Amino acid sequence: MTTDARRFCPNCGDPIETDPAERPVVPGATGARGKEQTLCDACYFDRFDLVDAPDRIEVLVCARCGAVHRGNRWVDVGARDYTDIAVEEVSESLGIHLDARDVTWQVEPEQVDENTIRMHCYFTGIVRDTPVEEEVVVPVKISRQTCTRCGRIAGDYYASVVQVRARDRTPTAEEVERAEAIAEEIVADMEATGDRDAFVTDVSETDDGLDVKVSTTNIGKKIAAKVIEEFGGSYSDSETLVTEDEDGEEVYRVTYAVRLPPYAPGEIIDLADDDGGPVLVRSVRGNLKGIRLTTGEPYEAGFEDGDAPEARRLGRIEDAEETTVVTVEDDRAVQVLDPETYQARTIARPEYMDAEADTVPVFKSRAGLHVVPDRDEA
Ligand SMILES: [Zn+2]
Ligand SMILES: [Zn+2]
Repeated sequence: MTTDARRFCPNCGDPIETDPAERPVVPGATGARGKEQTLCDACYFDRFDLVDAPDRIEVLVCARCGAVHRGNRWVDVGARDYTDIAVEEVSESLGIHLDARDVTWQVEPEQVDENTIRMHCYFTGIVRDTPVEEEVVVPVKISRQTCTRCGRIAGDYYASVVQVRARDRTPTAEEVERAEAIAEEIVADMEATGDRDAFVTDVSETDDGLDVKVSTTNIGKKIAAKVIEEFGGSYSDSETLVTEDEDGEEVYRVTYAVRLPPYAPGEIIDLADDDGGPVLVRSVRGNLKGIRLTTGEPYEAGFEDGDAPEARRLGRIEDAEETTVVTVEDDRAVQVLDPETYQARTIARPEYMDAEADTVPVFKSRAGLHVVPDRDEA
């Protein structure tokens, strides 16, 4: 039995001369597209569109930060101007006919006004061995709004607050500056991974320390943990009910209360029930560690005292003054000028003291006069 190979165009009834088997059948092409495969060339090109383009595109951009709304969320695109964004949005919205091969295209943006860009898109390709070309114009309207993040920042939104305080003292300038820097670093790291919800709402110094308001509880917890990792101490958290959201869910704000240890590095203390002389504190992570100002030997608080051994404060190493060395008497004694009375006094010579030095820093307190390490060695 033979089959009549001749086909007729279902649209105009003309016989089709080309063997349809020679035409590539596009995988997945069904319905109208499948039927189009059997049309004669004249009818086929009559209804052929190389490009399927939307009538217009609206791009939502944040007027404050330049983020673009895509799908149902805001994304940072890092575009220098909105033309780049418009080109990208248009190219993603265009559909090229599946029968076309060797398609090339170029686009020329035409800035109509501040918020409108007309995209002239030129296409060429090969369809049924015939070169085809097409031009489409897609107007892009840029709508400026405020993204969720910028809206929250403008509204002073915060989900947690880190309160940096110290036991029996106020945090040092270094601790305050560093805590602030830690907050900025943690947020910057999270932003770098594309987290748009991470921001510092407010940083304020209070009479007894520092308050850092941040956008999520997770960030607050990270800051508190990092601060005590660097400066010792501990933190606790507590929740406060602030409101109910639109779904009736209770919204809590979390306070992270950081308590730095009572003594900070650089502080000079006189330990209770101890006659070994003043101690310059060098670390309070875990337990207090320092050096004796009389000998230069290391001191470490016992486990039960931890980072808060009983002691009285004498001052800080910054309070030391440079004074003249009169004579080094022996391994354990040196004669220096008292910086207040200018009288020569023999005092303990710690091992960190440079025997060749003409002047040394000394610290005067209720506990007497002591040579302290040079500031960069302290
Ligand atoms: Zn036809
Ligand atoms: Zn924004």
